[in-house]
Amino acid sequence: MPAPQADFRSIKQRIPIDAVLQRYGVKLRSVGPHTLCGPCPLPTHTSRNSRDSFSVNLSRQVWSCHSDSCIAARGGRLGGHVIDLVTILEGCSLRQAGLRLQDWFGLGVAASHAAPPRPTAVQASAAQPNRPLGFALQGIDTRHRYLTQRGISTATAQCFGVGMYQGAGFLTGRCVIPICDEKARLVAYAGRAVNGEPPKYRFPAGFRKSQVLFNLDRAIDTAAHNVIVVEGFFDALKVHQAGHPAVVALMGSSFSQRQSDLLLSHFASVTLMLDGDDPGRHAAEVIAKLLRPKVRVHEVELPNRVQPDQLSAAEINVLFGPPNRTF
Ligand SMILES: [Zn+2]
Repeated sequence: MPAPQADFRSIKQRIPIDAVLQRYGVKLRSVGPHTLCGPCPLPTHTSRNSRDSFSVNLSRQVWSCHSDSCIAARGGRLGGHVIDLVTILEGCSLRQAGLRLQDWFGLGVAASHAAPPRPTAVQASAAQPNRPLGFALQGIDTRHRYLTQRGISTATAQCFGVGMYQGAGFLTGRCVIPICDEKARLVAYAGRAVNGEPPKYRFPAGFRKSQVLFNLDRAIDTAAHNVIVVEGFFDALKVHQAGHPAVVALMGSSFSQRQSDLLLSHFASVTLMLDGDDPGRHAAEVIAKLLRPKVRVHEVELPNRVQPDQLSAAEINVLFGPPNRTF
């Protein structure tokens, strides 16, 4: 099957830049017949002084941000067209941004072919690893009370780079969690809602959970033989904090071939500690069955409705023995 193509010219002509900004919830005000202006929504924007630095020209379908630090973080470019915009907002390649825009706005170029365009794009992208992000968020507050309330110490938050983000962009006002690949390259941020606002987690649109295991890079660094597998980010933070740094999170209860390969190539045994609910138990059963022929598997079954992030360090140590390392 040929790889899907992004038709850049048709995207730039046919997808209105204001519709794309609206999709990201960016609110700008009209300052002229064809000009919108407002706070910059880009993750490259760290300056708090330049409040109205972002502008859009609707007739030319282009955007720009005049903040010096934002321009520098974007490699010296003042602005660009709609595909550049999505590239920066999603931290993806130009081609991926083009494909996403086509998908969102129904411009599939494969529509005339026998195969429907959507599944083609999904299949083609499913096996691709996540690309390293071209930027890092600045000003993350690792001492925020949300973390304290969840029992995360400042030392743990700093170790993981987790904290409250008040800068511009789609993660503003959320607790951000940096996600790295097995080589410790930053590939995405997850944004956890702290005030009950849906969705609970926000990820960049093209991010593929199935291609990574959260905290795998640090778990590999411990040179441990056994790795603990949990579902969520905060489960991993709590297990790490209790002194068991060889822990990874699936970021849900599904388990991909790629995640299996990552575990098998770095560890001699696996301890599963998924949530104490039906999806968690079912997932543990499926994963254990998949891994058992290849590696030693232990299962820790939690009581009903209990998740690892609700356990104290002492309770975690009852399950896993004394800590390997203290933090
Ligand atoms: Zn900016």
